[in-house]
Amino acid sequence: MKKKQFKSESKRLLDLMIHSIYTNKDIFLRELISNASDALDKLYYASLTDKKLKVKKDKLEIFIELNKENRTIKVIDNGCGMNKEELENNLGTIAKSGTLAFKEMMNTDKAKNKDIDIIGQFGVGFYSAFMVSKKIEVTSKKDDEEANTWISDGVDGYTIKKGDKEKRGTEITLYLKDDTEEENFSEYLEEFKINELIKKYSDYISYPIKMEVLTRSLKEGSKEDYEEKREVTTLNSMVPIWKRPQSEVTDEEYNDFYKDKYYDFENPLKTITTSVEGMTSYKAILFIPSKAPYDFYTKEYEKGLSLYSNGVMIMDKCKELLPDYFSFVKGVVDTEDLSLNISREMLQQTKTVQVIAKNIESKINKELLKMQEENKDEYIKFFETFGTGIKFGVYSDYGMNKDKLKDLLMFYSAKNKKLITLKEYVENMKEGQEAIYYASGATTDKIDKLPQVEQVKEKDYDILYLTDYVDEFCLNTLMEYDSKKFENVSNGKLNLESDEEKDKTKKLNDDNKDLLEYLKDNLDVNEVRFTNILKSHPVCFTSKGDISIEMEKVINAMPTDETIKSEKILEINANHKIADKLKKLYKEDKDELLKYAKILYSEACLIEGLPVEDPTELSNLICEVMTK
Ligand code: ADP
Repeated sequence: MKKKQFKSESKRLLDLMIHSIYTNKDIFLRELISNASDALDKLYYASLTDKKLKVKKDKLEIFIELNKENRTIKVIDNGCGMNKEELENNLGTIAKSGTLAFKEMMNTDKAKNKDIDIIGQFGVGFYSAFMVSKKIEVTSKKDDEEANTWISDGVDGYTIKKGDKEKRGTEITLYLKDDTEEENFSEYLEEFKINELIKKYSDYISYPIKMEVLTRSLKEGSKEDYEEKREVTTLNSMVPIWKRPQSEVTDEEYNDFYKDKYYDFENPLKTITTSVEGMTSYKAILFIPSKAPYDFYTKEYEKGLSLYSNGVMIMDKCKELLPDYFSFVKGVVDTEDLSLNISREMLQQTKTVQVIAKNIESKINKELLKMQEENKDEYIKFFETFGTGIKFGVYSDYGMNKDKLKDLLMFYSAKNKKLITLKEYVENMKEGQEAIYYASGATTDKIDKLPQVEQVKEKDYDILYLTDYVDEFCLNTLMEYDSKKFENVSNGKLNLESDEEKDKTKKLNDDNKDLLEYLKDNLDVNEVRFTNILKSHPVCFTSKGDISIEMEKVINAMPTDETIKSEKILEINANHKIADKLKKLYKEDKDELLKYAKILYSEACLIEGLPVEDPTELSNLICEVMTK
C-alpha cells in the first residue's frame, strides 16, 4: 500500500506536535472529544431533515477505552463518520482556520524564539493527538458506505486501507509514546487521570462520555465488605455551564470555560450572564476578553456568538447576534425557541435571532456603562483595547447608532492627562465655555506642543487630544454632545479673542492687505493672515470648511486613489517679530520676502506633520537666510 505524504503546510505543524514543545499536552483529549461531539451534532442535525438516517438522540455517545497492555487509548463516537475521501481531506490537510492561522504564526519571530505557549491560542485539533502518540489509527464509517482505516505515525505520512467497522461513526486509537525521563505518557492510561481531564475540559459536552471504570461498593447486606466491579459510567455532567444555576457556578469555572473555549491564557475582563424568559427565552454567557485576539484587527477575524438550540450547537459563530462595534464579545446563546430543523440561511432572517441580538446588544451596552461607573480603571483598560471599534460604530452606517454609543466613548483629556468621557468633559466646562475643544495629531505629546492649543489652554478650557485615525470622523458624526458643539482648535473661526483683540487684528490685516495677498498668491494656501490666536509661536495652519488637516492626512494615507485637500490658512503671529520683518521686506526686497514666506510655510507643514514638498530647497533656504 502506498504511503501518502501530508500536505506541506500540515507538515510543520505536525513536526511541532510530534516534538511537542507545548507544555499542556492534556488538551489532546479535549480536542478529540470536541471533534466527536461535533460529529454527533452533525449527524443529529442532518437526521432532522433526512429521516433515512434513523438517529435516536439518546443513543448518541462518546466512548473511551483504555488498554494498559497495548498502551492505547480509544475515543469512539457514533456520529456522522467519514468516508475515504473525507478521511483523506480532513486528516491529511489542515482543515481548521485556527490551525492555519497557527501555521502562519509559526513563521513569525515569536515562534522561532520558541515562545511556544502561543499554541494554546489556537484550536490545534486532531493533530494535537500526536503530542502523546507515536501512531494513530482512525477507523471511520459513514452511513452505508464501507469503513476505512487511516494510519499514521506522523513522520512519514499516512496510509488508508479498508477498515473493519460495522456501525456508523469513528474510532480513534492512540498508541501512546514511551515514557522518557522528562515525560510520562503512561498517566493517560489511568482512569482517574482521564476522569479528571473530562471533568476539567469536557464536562459540558452535551453527549455522554462513557468509560468502563472500576467501582467499589459495599456488598449487599454487608457493612464492611466491599466489592469491586467494572462498570460503564458517564464521566461528564452534560449540563452546559450556561444551563447551571448562576449561583452555583464559580468565577473560576466561568474563567476556565472561557479560556478553554476561546484559547485564551488570560481570564476575561468581564463575564456577563443573562437569562431571559418571555416571548423569546434564552440564556447567554458573554465574555469581554482582556486582550484583543491576535487576529482581531485583520480581515480573518470573524465575530459572532455560538448559537445553541437547547444544548445542541447550531452554529459556531452566528454573526447576526452581534453588531460590528461589539465584535470583540465572545460567548454562547442557547434558546429553546429555535427549531433545530431550521436551515442556516433561514436562521439569519428569523425574528427570534433578531430579538435576541437586540437584547444582547443593549445588555452589553448596559454592562459597559456599569463598568464605566463602578470601575473606571477596568473600563479604561477595556476602552484602550476595544475603543476603536466603538468609535468606528459611531461613524459607520451614517451615524445610525451614535446615540446608543456616545456615552461609551472616551478621549484623552489635556487637563486630566488620561481618558475621560464626554459627560465628564461637559460637567467640567468653564463658565462661558460654549464648545467641546479637540486637537488631532500623532501623539498626545505632539498635540500638546501645537501652537493652536495654546490659546484654548490660556482660557483654562480642557482639550480632547485625538490620536486615533477614526477619532475626528467619530466626533464629526456626533456633531454635538449635550447640545455642545465640537470645535477643532485648528479651525480658523474659533472666536476666542476679545473684541479689542479682534479689532486690533482686523486693522493689522486691513493695513497689510497687499502683503498678505502677495504671500497667498505665492504659497499653496487659501489665505494668509496676521493672527492673535498664537501666543508665543510664530506660525501655524488653521483650516476652514469641513475637512481638517488631520482628515486630509488620514484620507490621503488610505490605499485608494482618492486624495483630498483641506482649505488652509497660514496664520502669522501678529505680535511676533517676524510680522514686522515681513512688512519691512515687502517694501524693500520681495525676493527675500518670498524666501521667508517659504520657510514659514514649511514650518507650519512640519508642525502639522504634513510632508514638506522639497526638503533640499528648504535646507538651502534656511542656510542662506542664516548666513546673511
Ligand atoms: P477541526 O475540528 O477544527 O475542523 P481537526 O483537525 O480537529 O479540525 O479535524 C479536521 C476535520 O476532521 C474536522 O473538521 C471533521 O470534519 C473531521 N473529523 C475529525 N474528527 C472527527 C470525528 N470523530 N468524526 C467525524 N469527523 C471528524
